[in-house]
Amino acid sequence: MQRRDDTIAAVATGSGGAISVIRVSGAEAVAIVEAIFRPAANGASLAESAGFTLHYGEIISGGRVVDDVLVSVFKAPKSYTGEEMAEISCHDSEYVKGEIMRLLVAGGCRIADPGEFTMRAFMNGKMDLAQAEAVAAVIASENEAANLLARNQMRGGYSGAFVALREQLLELASLLELELDFGEEDVEFADRSRLNEIIEGIDGKIGSLLSSFALGNVVKNGVPVVIAGAPNVGKSTLLNTLLNEDRAMVSDIAGTTRDVIEDSLNIDGVEFRFIDTAGIRDTDDVLENMGIERSRESISRASVVLLVVDAGDSLESIVESVSLINETDRKKIIILLNKSDRNDQEQTNAKVSAIRQMISDIGVLPISAKHGYNIDSLKDTLASFVDSGRIRRGETIVSDSRHYESLLQAGEAVGRVRQGMATGLSSDLLTQDIRDVLFHIGAITGEITTDEILGSIFSKFCIGK
Ligand code: GDP
Repeated sequence: MQRRDDTIAAVATGSGGAISVIRVSGAEAVAIVEAIFRPAANGASLAESAGFTLHYGEIISGGRVVDDVLVSVFKAPKSYTGEEMAEISCHDSEYVKGEIMRLLVAGGCRIADPGEFTMRAFMNGKMDLAQAEAVAAVIASENEAANLLARNQMRGGYSGAFVALREQLLELASLLELELDFGEEDVEFADRSRLNEIIEGIDGKIGSLLSSFALGNVVKNGVPVVIAGAPNVGKSTLLNTLLNEDRAMVSDIAGTTRDVIEDSLNIDGVEFRFIDTAGIRDTDDVLENMGIERSRESISRASVVLLVVDAGDSLESIVESVSLINETDRKKIIILLNKSDRNDQEQTNAKVSAIRQMISDIGVLPISAKHGYNIDSLKDTLASFVDSGRIRRGETIVSDSRHYESLLQAGEAVGRVRQGMATGLSSDLLTQDIRDVLFHIGAITGEITTDEILGSIFSKFCIGK
């Protein structure tokens, strides 16, 4: 890892806009920028200016003007990194940016590593590790729900849940240590029922955080929806209608070979990723109409399965299609009786009721992919698969797989503590397991870190962040 006390600089914006921002942070930041900056008439010196001030002027290289710029000055510790900082807003020209960076490096700056500004913010206590990771998540967020999740994590609401857990664990450890201190007198000092209560509470909390990952993960990465069904039932037409564009190829020839099509649709601020399994017909014989080992794989990974059948199909064949899907995956099926425009409505309704009677807990919806019938209801049904209200209410939702892994390990250690309490394990051994839980919880917010962890987290950031 690079030295942490030198002054770093990087272009913080992408190319292609009108304006770019070059960030400089470190003890010499303002002085180095000042040396290449000529303020407009009556402009103040940067070094003598207060923080949060903006200065108009020119960047000068050997008496020549490179660009007209605005420089923002931030004084330590009131800056993003907690250090002295300056940000130069210049024109987004590769030449201008290159020249300014060259001048900064000549003046004593080092080019920043990816994520180094945010890592310094973490090191200087401006944010904890989960908050720092949220900065990257905010930048990566592509829809409202993912953005809300990331913002909640960045504001620290998220970390609060782990701080609370940590406090409970520390209470537990201190109660046990009390018992340890008096161990020789053979007194069970700590009230074991109180200990049980605390550890049960911790176990429950970790359990609910772990289960929130199912939601957090799909919101962050998009909800995978598989469109399954026999050739020619209208899967591509449905995808087109949903996406309202002619992305997939529609044809009358059964089983036209084509690649798995993946496209996404935003419903209620949540991204749904559609995977059309059409065209994988090689294993058709094995699983008949539904077919297809690859479909099964996609289905097992999907959150929702839209099983498209022809509304004119017999009840038996529809039920048969469902039975071809693994039992564990059946609860995520919505049966879509497509081409219902070609059938009598009463008959269709009767079929819907019959299916519901034969298969409990299954969604059934008559639609017409071609004529757009019931497509809005389908979207509502899809939205109901994701409880985005939990995100809007600011509940703690785990969406980072690193945090999930740490929680899994914390949960295992809690299991050992509970087992130890049940079998009357000595306080010192129990304390050791509690320290393990503390370690894994602490890793999430960064109370406990190693250079390796930090390196792997921040190296994934973009330059200038
Ligand atoms: P896929 O093989 O399952 O992807 O089926 P396609 O989307 O290619 O559709 C097969 C045929 O069914 C095409 O001729 C579509 O126009 C037609 N089709 C699809 N949906 C409907 C519908 O809701 N009503 C009617 N009448 N025809 C449809």
